[in-house]
Amino acid sequence: MGRDIKAVKWFFDTQVLKDPFNPGYATFKVTSKCNLRCTFCNPSYYSGELGEAPTERVKKMIDNMRDSSVIVLSFEGGEPTSRPDILDLLNYAHDGSFYIMLTSNGYRLRDENFLAKVADKIDFLHYSIDEYHWNVKNLDDLCRFRKYGIKVNVQTVVTRFNLDKLEEKVRKVRECGYKILAMPAVDYPDSKVKLAPDPEKFYKVMYELKSKYGSTLNNSWGFINALVGKTPSRVTSYAITVYPNGDIPYPDDINGEVVGNVAENRLKDIMKSEKVRSLQKKMLENQARFEYLHLQTASFNSLRDLISYATEMAKWRFTGRA
Ligand code: SF4
Repeated sequence: MGRDIKAVKWFFDTQVLKDPFNPGYATFKVTSKCNLRCTFCNPSYYSGELGEAPTERVKKMIDNMRDSSVIVLSFEGGEPTSRPDILDLLNYAHDGSFYIMLTSNGYRLRDENFLAKVADKIDFLHYSIDEYHWNVKNLDDLCRFRKYGIKVNVQTVVTRFNLDKLEEKVRKVRECGYKILAMPAVDYPDSKVKLAPDPEKFYKVMYELKSKYGSTLNNSWGFINALVGKTPSRVTSYAITVYPNGDIPYPDDINGEVVGNVAENRLKDIMKSEKVRSLQKKMLENQARFEYLHLQTASFNSLRDLISYATEMAKWRFTGRA
């Protein structure tokens, strides 16, 4: 099914039929290896501990998600470009079933040949830039991606220590006509360093920046309001995570349980299981309350927030300008 038809179906199923078991966004962790060791990152995402499936198995996962409700398939890791077969995998997924995102720390994107090939196979580039990726200076030549026609969404991790630097980043991104997404650091239960920003302070900064820079800031109003508990009564997240071996921890990788394997079964069938239904009650509890994807997609329970966000994204998709 085509991605735009899927989007219409998703809207009908979730907003009209009120069926919450329709994830629209999949964080697809295709590797657990990375060339960096960011302070806030869970070591299992860069040490290789979670493994890496062979090409054909990853393709099977993609096939098992094609006829599901997933509209946006985000290739992540680890660092997804560390896979030698990443171009093959992006190409395989990019047949119109999904909007394809690539989330990268930019390490391999310095190679212009590689970048040109990637540009043909993705719809959006999520480029991680912040103090913790040691690459803030990359904001100074960010506009170079324009010549490849890539829609760039800078993804920046906000901690209690760099919150005051967020506006400068937003300004630089705006100069290129791109978007920036501020993701609050999550303190994992075993994290030694506590980095998560104070929700009230984070809310205040985000409120001011969204009012001033509008759609350049890719966080929805629903997300911003959810930071201080202004959530709709029905708090369902529409995001799922897929581990490198195909396992799906649900509702998320922090406090979830594995509910199935998408290399073995269709996502549609996994989402119908009793286990998923009972675990969904845990949505937005404990640490998950401040995990970006839950907050962003939970805001889609409000029709007003959903329409406002979808309008911003449609403008970006069809005009190429944030
Ligand atoms: S670049 Fe991403 S995956 Fe790699 S260590 Fe940093 S946060 Fe983790």
